[in-house]
Amino acid sequence: MKYIGAHVSASGGVDNAPINAYQIGATAFALFTKNQRQWHAKPLESTIIDSFNKRCEKYGFTSKQILPHDSYLINLGHPDSEQLTKSRMAFLDEMQRCEQLGLTLLNFHPGSHLKQISVDECLTRIAESINITLDKTKNVVAVIENTAGQGSNLGYKFEHLATIIDHVEDKSRVGVCIDTCHAFAAGYDLRTEKACQETFKEFDKIVGYRYLRGMHLNDAKSELASHVDRHDSLGKGNIGQTAFKYIMQNPEIDEIPLILETINPDIWPQEIAWLKEQSK
Ligand SMILES: [Zn+2]
Ligand SMILES: [Zn+2]
Repeated sequence: MKYIGAHVSASGGVDNAPINAYQIGATAFALFTKNQRQWHAKPLESTIIDSFNKRCEKYGFTSKQILPHDSYLINLGHPDSEQLTKSRMAFLDEMQRCEQLGLTLLNFHPGSHLKQISVDECLTRIAESINITLDKTKNVVAVIENTAGQGSNLGYKFEHLATIIDHVEDKSRVGVCIDTCHAFAAGYDLRTEKACQETFKEFDKIVGYRYLRGMHLNDAKSELASHVDRHDSLGKGNIGQTAFKYIMQNPEIDEIPLILETINPDIWPQEIAWLKEQSK
């Protein structure tokens, strides 16, 4: 079963997200459980949590179809210890919000070394941050997203993801989310069926499909290996339609949320319908 959706708005309350997802024909969705550009947010109110759960049930969304995304401010590999603590506290809050909502996945960007510590040191810090957070929470899986490798962001190589996982103690609560635009910008070709086969074979060898807990389906305005993160609508960018057909027909990529973060929300219903068509 393929679960297909988009990163929908939660403005006015997280309980609006399942409605917004239902209205575009989605069978999966992503959301921010707080403002993604601010450090602090007021705790979730119990009425909102109830309403979120009721609406998810009404529209057929179970926790495995929902992929919350954390705040962009968090850097779990921060070289400065004070800043690292701040990020870890914010990440714990994000994970606790997921717990409160009955959600079981939390998607986040690994972190940046800011050119102050080595790649390995930064990856170890990220894994340590995950271990600390998992210790203080239950049920939620930490889902590391691959990146385009902009600036000093890590996670652009499958090896980075594998190294982090390697250092995480509870392997049952760590996974990855592969963003097609980020992978392409990081140098993983997806333009032909053969290129897709090779890229996913590489992914399986280094990380493993068993850790794949979600995907972000985005075409890319940016070029292959450009390390520039610019999303585009499906089939409109430099990746093209083939990759998305390949993913929809890949039996290894099943039972996980497949999320559009494409640039034109007006055509999400058509993009979702087209993806559903490819999976038949
Ligand atoms: Zn992301
Ligand atoms: Zn993404």
